[in-house]
Amino acid sequence: MHIVFSSQHQAHGTRPAMPGYPDRYDETPPRVGAILAGLEAAGLGSPVQAVDHGLAPILAVHDAGLIAFLQGAFQGSRAFLPGDSPLWPDGYHAVRGWRRRPAGWQQLAGYYAIDRDCPILAGTWEAAYWSAQAALTAAGLVKAGQRAAYALCRPPGHHASASQYGGYCYLNNAAIAARHLQAGSGARVALVDIDYHHGNGTQEIFYADPTVLTCSLHADPDQEYPTFWGGAAELGDGPGRGYNRNWPLPAGVDDAAYLHALDEAIALVATFQPAFLVIAAGFDLVQGDPSATTTGFRVTVEGLETVGRRLAGLDLPTVIVQEGGYQIDQLGEMAVRFLRPFDAG
Ligand SMILES: [Zn+2]
Repeated sequence: MHIVFSSQHQAHGTRPAMPGYPDRYDETPPRVGAILAGLEAAGLGSPVQAVDHGLAPILAVHDAGLIAFLQGAFQGSRAFLPGDSPLWPDGYHAVRGWRRRPAGWQQLAGYYAIDRDCPILAGTWEAAYWSAQAALTAAGLVKAGQRAAYALCRPPGHHASASQYGGYCYLNNAAIAARHLQAGSGARVALVDIDYHHGNGTQEIFYADPTVLTCSLHADPDQEYPTFWGGAAELGDGPGRGYNRNWPLPAGVDDAAYLHALDEAIALVATFQPAFLVIAAGFDLVQGDPSATTTGFRVTVEGLETVGRRLAGLDLPTVIVQEGGYQIDQLGEMAVRFLRPFDAG
């Protein structure tokens, strides 16, 4: 298994107690170490450092204003924030249809963030940039003919849309990988998101695009984040109509119910006949994840392994991009179980 990571993730130095954040912050650097340790112990391959593909493939997905904000926000906000205090939105967020880009860094945080889950720290841009580079490096390997590659991305990406960040995500790594797979050929890509939360950013990026089939299985947004996206009626727009599909699932679904929904997604992907598959692999679908505010799903680690086996059964060149998953002591085992079925080729 080709495993790509970026040591620069540590620059996004979040910790469970973040100044200015009312809850425990679960998206922290030890997540990466836990996964790497599990993969290495299982002999699944040696991780390689991401290769720099530059800013162009990021700008192929994201708005230049968002990128400029992420690049400059920490330094710019030192004018009103002391020391290494994180920049958070101050409670005012741009509403849909709002068009005026404000001037101040504090106001820009509200303009670009969909929520208050994303601190801007001194190393946030560096970590987000290299997380995207890990996805690009994995996509490059698959584009060059490898059967599968895994990008251990941190911070995650699927809640980041073209022009907004949120939900622990700054740049949409899976979307950037999908566009990179298409570059030069326009090849069709299927993107399946198994994270517990709906991949709202990914949905938005490809919503009018019939060349990328986006499928997301997730907690019912009436029960869980991201609330405003993820319904079954969201089918795509214009030429993209029919190429976005959501499976909002109730709290407590077990392996059988989850796999039933997955099989529907897999059948759609097979009909679409893509050249590549991208999997947004969040492991917070497994029971007990602290990010669930309800009882969460009752999907087991054995169930997760079956999810991996069935997706690998599509037999497509596949890029697996890490999204969420916050049971740190189990992340290594989850990654091994999920990835091993892709390791056959
Ligand atoms: Zn999640």
